[in-house]
Amino acid sequence: MGSQPKADYDVIAIGAGFAGLGLIHFVREAGLSIRVFDKAADIGGTWTWNRYPGAATDSEGYYYCLTFSKEILQEWSWSQRYPGWEETHRYLHFVADKEEMWPSIQLNTEIVSAEFQEESALWLVTSASGETHTCKYFVSAMGMISEPNVPNIKGKDSFKGPCFHSSRWPQEGLDYAGKRVGIIGSGATTVQMLPEVAKTAKSVTVFQRTPNFVMPAVQKPMTPEWEKEIKDNYDKIIETCRNHVFGMCFNSPVGRNLADTPPDEVQRILEEQWPKGSFAFVFETFDDLLSNAESNQVVSDFICSKIRDKVDDPVVAELLSPKGYPLFAKRPPLDHGYFEAYNRDNVQLVDIGKQEPLVEITATGVRTTENEFEFDILVLATGFKAYTGATEAVAVTGRGGATLKEKWATESASIMGVCVADFPNLFLITGPQAPFANLPTSIEQNIMWITDCIKKMESEGYDVCEPQQKAEDEWVAHTKDIHEQTLMAQGHKVNSWMMGANIENKNPRVLIYFGGANVYYDKLRESVDGGFPEMAFERLAQ
Ligand code: NAP
Repeated sequence: MGSQPKADYDVIAIGAGFAGLGLIHFVREAGLSIRVFDKAADIGGTWTWNRYPGAATDSEGYYYCLTFSKEILQEWSWSQRYPGWEETHRYLHFVADKEEMWPSIQLNTEIVSAEFQEESALWLVTSASGETHTCKYFVSAMGMISEPNVPNIKGKDSFKGPCFHSSRWPQEGLDYAGKRVGIIGSGATTVQMLPEVAKTAKSVTVFQRTPNFVMPAVQKPMTPEWEKEIKDNYDKIIETCRNHVFGMCFNSPVGRNLADTPPDEVQRILEEQWPKGSFAFVFETFDDLLSNAESNQVVSDFICSKIRDKVDDPVVAELLSPKGYPLFAKRPPLDHGYFEAYNRDNVQLVDIGKQEPLVEITATGVRTTENEFEFDILVLATGFKAYTGATEAVAVTGRGGATLKEKWATESASIMGVCVADFPNLFLITGPQAPFANLPTSIEQNIMWITDCIKKMESEGYDVCEPQQKAEDEWVAHTKDIHEQTLMAQGHKVNSWMMGANIENKNPRVLIYFGGANVYYDKLRESVDGGFPEMAFERLAQ
C-alpha cells in the first residue's frame, strides 16, 4: 500500500441523472463511499432540466431505464411507449427512493473546479460557494447532451419578454396559452415542442435553418398485456439492448441490404415499417442504410414523400424536406404530430437557411433580412455542446496543469470515452468517442467498466491509475477510421452536433464511436477481463 492520505470520499461525481444514480448503485455495492453533486435543485439531469412542453424519451421507456435492479424493473410501471419528462423524472425518484440514494446526493451545488493533486494523487473538488472536498476517484456523470449551446445571435439579450434556451424552460412552468411564441431552431427539441405549444398558443413561429429527417414515433399507451410481456421477458430485453448496434431493443441486423432488394419489395418493406414508429424504421428494415449512400438516398426520398403527404401546403412541405445530406448525418428526431402542426393556422415556418437569414433578436422579437416578427415568448431551441461541453464547463485540471478543455481544443480524445491520458483517476460516463446509443444501456456499461477498474485499484492496493497515451492514440485513430466509413462523416456539412459542428469557432471532430455499441461493450468487457491494459497502475512512494 502507498502513502496516500485519506480522502473525504472514495468517489465524487458531478451529475445526478441516470449516470449519477447508476454510479451510486455500483460504487456503494463495491463497499466504497460516494458523493454526487448537482447544481440543479432536483435529481434527474436531462429530465429535470428539459421541462419544455412535449419533452419525452425517443427510446421506448421500457428499455430507457436502469437495469441493475430486477426488483425496480418489475415494480415500476410505464404509462406509455415514450414517457414524458415528468414520468421519467418520477421514475428516477423511484430509483433513488428504492435504493436509499439520497444521503449520497448533494443538490443545489455547482462544482466549478476539480484539480488532480500530484503529491497525494487525490482530486480536490471545489464548489461555486468555495466548499472543497477530496476524493480518490473523480467521475463526470454530467451527460453528453446537457450543456446548452446559445449561439451568439446579435441582440440576444435585448428581448423584453421571457427568452431562454429550450433546456432551461422555467422550472415553475410558463403559461404560453394565448401568447405569440417564437422558436429558433428545428431539431429534435422543436419537433417535440411545436405540436404541444401550438395547441394553446396564439401563434408559433419556427425559424428553421436546416430541415431534418423526422420519423414517426407512434405513441401508444402501455396495456396490462404489453406490460406483462415486457416484465416476463426483461432478461431477454436487456440482452437484446446489450447486443444491439445502438443499445436498443431492436431485432437487427435483419440480414438484408436495401442494395440487394428489388425496388418494389423495398417500398413494401418501408411502407410496412413506417406506421409502426420508432427508430425501428432504420434498424429493422435494411442493414446498409448508414453505410451505403444509394440505399440511404432511397430511404431519404421515402421520408420526404411522407412529409409531402402530411403537410398541406406544398411550399411548406418543400421547406421541411431535407436536401443535400444523408439521413443520419444529423440525428433524426421522432415525430408526435410535428408535420401536422404546420397545417394549423396559428403555426408559421420561416426559412432562415436560404430565404431570409436571421439578422437579430430585438426587444420585441426577431428580425430577418425580409421581415420583423413580434413575440411574447422566445425559445432558443439551439442545441447543445454535445459530449464535451458539460465537462469542459468545469475547470478539470490533470497532470501538468492542463485542463480538459485545453486538451480537447482541437481533438476530443479519450480511451473508449471513459478515461483520458494525463488525467489519472478520472473517469467519464459516456465521454467523447464513446458510441451514441440508447443512453441508459451505455451508461450502465460504462459504469461497470469504471467500478471494475476502481475495484482492481482497491483490492490490489494501488493509488493511481494512469490512462496510457498509446492506448488513447490507438482509440482515437480507430474511432476516426470507423467514422470515415459511415455516412455520419458528412455531419460537418450540416452543423451536426454529432461532430461538434454546431458550435461556433469549433473545428468539427470525431466525437462518436460508430463501430457499434455492442462491439464497444465487448471491448469494455475485454478490457476488464484483460486487467485494463489501457491503464498503468501505480502506488505512491512510501
Ligand atoms: P439540435 O438538434 O442541435 O438543433 C438545434 C437547432 O438550432 C437546429 O435547427 C440548428 O440549425 C438551430 N441553430 C443552432 N444555432 C443556430 C443559429 N445561430 N441560428 C439559427 N439556428 C440555429 O438541438 P436539439 O433539438 O435540442 O436536439 C439535440 C439533441 O438532443 C438531439 O439530436 C437528441 O439527440 C437530443 N434530444 C433528444 C430528445 C429525446 O430523445 N427525446 C429530445 C430532444 C433532444 P442547423 O441545423 O442549421 O444547425
